[in-house]
Amino acid sequence: MEVIDGNRIAAALIAELKAEVAAITGRKPCIALVRVGDDPASVSYVKKKGQTAAEIGIESRILLPPAAIGQAALERLVESLNGDAGVDGILVQSPLPGGLDERAVFGRIAPEKDVDGFHPVNLGKVVQGDESGFSPCTPAGIMELLARSAVNLEGKHVVVLGRSLIVGRPAALLALQNRAGANATVTVCHSRTLDLPSLARQADVLIAAIGRPGFVTADLVKPGAVVIDVGINRVADPARKSGHRLVGDVDFPSVSPIASMITPVPGGVGPMTVAMLMRNTVKAFRLRRGG
Ligand code: NDP
Repeated sequence: MEVIDGNRIAAALIAELKAEVAAITGRKPCIALVRVGDDPASVSYVKKKGQTAAEIGIESRILLPPAAIGQAALERLVESLNGDAGVDGILVQSPLPGGLDERAVFGRIAPEKDVDGFHPVNLGKVVQGDESGFSPCTPAGIMELLARSAVNLEGKHVVVLGRSLIVGRPAALLALQNRAGANATVTVCHSRTLDLPSLARQADVLIAAIGRPGFVTADLVKPGAVVIDVGINRVADPARKSGHRLVGDVDFPSVSPIASMITPVPGGVGPMTVAMLMRNTVKAFRLRRGG
C-alpha cells in the first residue's frame, strides 16, 4: 500500500509555479481573497492561501468585509474587483455567513477571474470538456494527485461518494472527460443511493466526499482499490491540546491495509486544493494578458 503524499505533490506544483511566476516580467499575477466575517475555518484557509500566494510570488489582496455586509454590498465589492485591471483572480471564501446567497455571489464574479471555478460558465466548460476555463480546485487537485501518482483512470470504474457542486459533481465530470488520464466509467452516490456499499465495492478508484468521519470502512472497499479521501471533519480528541483533530471520510486504519494507494487526512487532497487555486490564478493572468 502506498500513501499518496499530497504535501509533497502540492509542494512540487508550487515550486513549478514559483519558477513560472519568477520568469514573468513586469506585473505579477494577483489574487483577491475575500473573507466575509470571521469563521475560524475560513480565517485559516484564507491565511494559508495568502501565504502560498506569497511563496509563489503571486500578489494577494485580502479583503475582510464584516458578516453584516449584506448581499448587495458584497456583490458590489465583487463587481469592483471585476473591474480592477490589477486583479487577475477573485476568491470569495465559502461558506458565507448565513443570510448571504453564495451562488448569487459566485455568479457575480467575472468568469475570466473566477479562479475557484464556481461560476456557471466555468462549470459549463467542465461539462463540455473545454479546458479554456477554470476547474474547481478540489476536484482538479484530485485529478492532479492521481496523474502525478501515475494512476491512469482510462476505462476504470471511479465511484464518487457525494454530489456537491464544489466537489462530488465536478470530480465525476473531470474523471469522465474524454482525454488522456481521464476516460473513466463513473458512478456517483449520494444520500439517496440504494445500497451504496455494493457500488463502492465495485470501485477501482473510490473518491469519498461526503463529510462523514470514518464513513468508508474496509467492507466498502475492493482490495487493491485507490482511495481518495476528500473529507475534512473535525472530531473531538481530549488528548490534543486543541481538543479536536481532523479526520477524513475514510476510516484510514481499516482501509489502508487493503487499498493499493490512499490519501491521508490531513496531507492528502487538502494541500492540492490551495495549489490548484494558485495554478488557476497564474492561468487567469496569462489568459487576461493574452498569452
Ligand atoms: P456537502 O455537504 O456539500 O455534500 C455532501 C455530499 O455527500 C452530498 O451529496 C450528500 O448527499 C452526500 N452524503 C452525505 N451523507 C451521506 C451518506 N450518509 N451517504 C451517502 N451520501 C451522503 O459537502 P462537500 O462536498 O462540500 O464536502 C464534502 C467533504 O469534503 C467535507 O468533509 C468537506 O469538509 C470536505 N472538503 C474538503 C476539501 C479539501 O480541500 N480537501 C474542499 C471541500 C470540501 P445529498 O446530495 O443527497 O445530500
